Amino acid sequence: MAACGEVERMKRREFLVTGLSATLATPAAASEFQVEFGSARAQVEIEGEAGPEFESLVKRWLDRSAGAVQSYYGRFPVPEVYFHIIVSGGAGVRGGQTFPGDLPLIRARVGRNSSEADLLHKDWVMVHEMVHLAFPWMNQRNNWMAEGLAVYVESIARVHAGHLEPARIWADFANMMPRGLPAPGDGGFDVTVNWGRTYWGGAIYCLVADIAIRRQTEGRFGLQHALRAINAERDFRREWDFIETLEIGDRATGTRVLVEQYEAMRTTAVSTDLDALWRDLGVRSDDGGAGALDDDAPLAAIRRAIESPLPA
Ligand SMILES: [Zn+2]
Repeated sequence: MAACGEVERMKRREFLVTGLSATLATPAAASEFQVEFGSARAQVEIEGEAGPEFESLVKRWLDRSAGAVQSYYGRFPVPEVYFHIIVSGGAGVRGGQTFPGDLPLIRARVGRNSSEADLLHKDWVMVHEMVHLAFPWMNQRNNWMAEGLAVYVESIARVHAGHLEPARIWADFANMMPRGLPAPGDGGFDVTVNWGRTYWGGAIYCLVADIAIRRQTEGRFGLQHALRAINAERDFRREWDFIETLEIGDRATGTRVLVEQYEAMRTTAVSTDLDALWRDLGVRSDDGGAGALDDDAPLAAIRRAIESPLPA
């Protein structure tokens, strides 16, 4: 993630307001169109050579991805967003980035030979980028939270929307979360910054917080309630104070989980016993990655609650 230049932001704002492609001066643009996600408006620019079938597929991909995010947050996280889709060679999504500003920008590279399976079933990048929109833009020190959150919520949201089976995401978590554990000599989240700690360490923070909130409130609230409350007051358009943001989430659940867990982990490396966590949640990670789930495990009810969408 990085901040856009003011000039680019101005151009995008002008584009959305006027709807005139001429103001953008982007000769390589193949097409521009608008889509809506509930009450949210999105402007889509596809840059590069691609036909109407590709444009139709991109529309369905954005809509399906937004549907997962809307199922988790109860709405699309920002009122307006700009998508800059760059057509590349090959197939599949070749990376994405989200930029803050009055009109947030999501930029993604998509192979012109992408199939429905590539965009509508295999891709996780667009949901990840859209999840960023629901949390304030974070400076470098607290970026682990923004990225960990996007990793965690992307998976859960896709389960809620029916795009993934629960067993699949738990198998992925069991497989990948060990990469987020601190190595000997590492400091806390604000001290030791690397890929594993940022993406998967941040995801561990979210999972542990989700479980703690559900235990402390006897199942009345989870991390999802905290994140919806944060998104109701703040979003990715600008940077906000990190602890104040966590406090909004804690107030919504009547706990101190987010702030206290952050205070415990910000400078000191805390190693979570993931094997014990999977055992308690009923996630069997030892059967070749098939992700078998045990509903008799002590925290299986919490695992199933995490997998279940909130009532509309
Ligand atoms: Zn990200």
